[in-house]
Amino acid sequence: MFDRNSTPPPESEASLALRLQRLAMVAERSSNAVLLADADRKVVWVNQAFVASTGFTPQESVGQIFGVLLARGSADSAAFSQFQEAVLQGRGLKREITIRTTTGEARWALVDLQPLHDDAGVLSGWVLVATDLTDVRAQQQLLTLAVDGAGLGTWHWDVSSGAMQCNDRLRQTMGYAKGQMDMTARGWNALVHPDDLQPWLAAVMAQMRSSEVALRMSIRIHHAAGRWVWIMFVGAVVDRSANGHVLRMAGVALDVQAQKAMEHELRVAARTDGLTQLPNRSVLLHAIEQAIARGRAQPGYQFAVLFMDFDRFKQVNDTLGHAVGDALLRQIADRLQESLRPGDSLIQSSDFAHVAARIGGDEFVVLLDNIRGDLDAEIVAGRLIDVLSLPYTIGAHKVVSSASIGIVTSSHAADDADSVLRDADIAMYEAKRTGRARYVMFEPSMRQQVRASVALENDLRLALEQHELFVVYQPLVNLASGAFTGVEALLRWRHPVRGMVSPVEFIPVAEACGLIGALGQFVLQSACHAFAAMPFVPVMDPPVTLAVNLSRAQLRQPGLVDDVRDAMRANGLAPQQLVLEVTESLAAQDAVVLSTLHAIRALGVALSLDDFGTGYSSLSCLHELPVNFVKVDRSFVSQAQTSAYHRVLIEATIRMAQTLGLGTVAEGIETEGQAHLMAELGCDKGQGYLYSKPLEAPALVDWVQARQR
Ligand code: C2E
Ligand code: MG
Ligand code: MG
Repeated sequence: MFDRNSTPPPESEASLALRLQRLAMVAERSSNAVLLADADRKVVWVNQAFVASTGFTPQESVGQIFGVLLARGSADSAAFSQFQEAVLQGRGLKREITIRTTTGEARWALVDLQPLHDDAGVLSGWVLVATDLTDVRAQQQLLTLAVDGAGLGTWHWDVSSGAMQCNDRLRQTMGYAKGQMDMTARGWNALVHPDDLQPWLAAVMAQMRSSEVALRMSIRIHHAAGRWVWIMFVGAVVDRSANGHVLRMAGVALDVQAQKAMEHELRVAARTDGLTQLPNRSVLLHAIEQAIARGRAQPGYQFAVLFMDFDRFKQVNDTLGHAVGDALLRQIADRLQESLRPGDSLIQSSDFAHVAARIGGDEFVVLLDNIRGDLDAEIVAGRLIDVLSLPYTIGAHKVVSSASIGIVTSSHAADDADSVLRDADIAMYEAKRTGRARYVMFEPSMRQQVRASVALENDLRLALEQHELFVVYQPLVNLASGAFTGVEALLRWRHPVRGMVSPVEFIPVAEACGLIGALGQFVLQSACHAFAAMPFVPVMDPPVTLAVNLSRAQLRQPGLVDDVRDAMRANGLAPQQLVLEVTESLAAQDAVVLSTLHAIRALGVALSLDDFGTGYSSLSCLHELPVNFVKVDRSFVSQAQTSAYHRVLIEATIRMAQTLGLGTVAEGIETEGQAHLMAELGCDKGQGYLYSKPLEAPALVDWVQARQR
């Protein structure tokens, strides 16, 4: 320990000489310029570096008053006078000045002038050490330029005092005016977002412990305007004490607000559906995945996936435009969310968690989490169907739509989210197929059906090319006279393996997979062609008619009316010879279908309302449809003799048709009794096995000839 009262032992002459010699050697070899002067300020010695950097030779220097020497070399008069003042007062001074060499070159130097005192404290001389800073300065300037040019903020932390410094750029990024910030480490820490402070301090500590660990982190800083701004700080320890303690840290800072905002947007966009702001498919799949995992881990835990599709969405989009379609989807999303909100009176059982997502087009999916049983899912599905089928008001339009829902519950859930969603989709299709605006619970056997219909679809594509499809003709007769009046064309498919496949089975498949257009064309063209070639057709008076069935999907195809006109022209048929049959279940309020029906009528072609009695439109709607004939469905005809109810309905239908000036046809007459009754009730025409099964063209020609005899 140091003791103030003890004096060090006097140094021997020899050791003093040795020490001085060593010092002189060090001074001589130093890259810093060193000058020694006596008490009278006369230069007694300069080293090589002094000569090199000032250009003054030892001969020129020694003996000069060093102030005079400096005055000749100083390019900075203010700094020079500070040194003069210090010398006069006998004290030291250290500062940076510019000096001018004998060649006129200006250099930056850190000049350290210190007085020497003897043991008695009397001034004995001066030591001047000048460090050439010119290169360091140049580098610093370059750095400053680079930092400014790159728009970088800079910061500096004096660890021992806690003082912070930063450049204007960083201060401005943070939104503060000069003097407005607490320039201490504590003050700065107070500006860091609470969630970012611990990670940031940990990163600083890591860099302090080891310079190998880079300090580079984006954190939120409290902007003067009250918001959070993202700033990236990069830094390093720049000074350590001899024993390794960190003295100073410094670094740069970069405004990354825009980048962070973009990142955020991208992240959100990757998770939400842009139109409805609901979570998207990937979020939903993740949630289902978690539900499946939880189901495995936790016995008794149950969930359900409700897959819904809107029954008239495509129609709304096609007829009212995409803007209305989009608005409808937004309203649907709103209703979904409102209905599922906990505590909502519509769905009291929604005390379980849920995710409602839009996964494409008009497809929405709800995941119900932690339900008590299948019944919960059914209750929610039922309520959703009710809520979603209330009319939607979009601008001037009132849109009525309904939802069909397929449900998969944990009891039948597959092992992965994709499959669960696919099964829910299958059940949804089943709901649509069996009448729409309803829900269907998924059962594993449905997968089998889907596979079968996929196989059927593939075969149907080939059927057209392979000429497996052909048309048969069933005659119609006048019920009063028994005279032959025309035929109905019916499509047949002779499947190479399955044999005859019923149109009841394959027409819906063709509609669903988009083959109906090609199929419809085929029937229209080949029926018109074959009919025109039948020998009795040109000679009969009044003209006999050809009836061709049109499916729902065909009526929405843009080229249909042209196709009909072309088929008549190509085969020389008059419009009075053609009748097109449309099914009754076609909703009359569908604007596209209605306008197509009117366009067909405008060609002079008659329309027949098929399967009357089985669909939705009642007698009272009959006058709204532009049809010429009503075909009473086979199911009514077959019960006409046994059920008073059916007979009354048939009678009413025929009366109404007569009042409206429409013709009537009874389908599926199999017995003489049915034929008599229908004639008695006033029905115009009949069709059925009693007269003939559907026949191929040559057989039909024979049948007609036989009948005419
Ligand atoms: P539809 O238009 O009502 O045709 C009448 C159906 O009743 C035909 O069945 C016919 O064979 C059957 N039928 C006729 N008389 C009798 C009878 O006395 N007793 C019984 N039990 N059945 C009788 P098919 O040919 O199986 O056609 C079924 C449905 O498939 C048709 O009903 C029609 O809706 C549709 N369809 C048939 N061909 C075509 C076509 O070319 N295009 C379109 N879009 N649909 C078609
Ligand atoms: Mg028909
Ligand atoms: Mg029918």
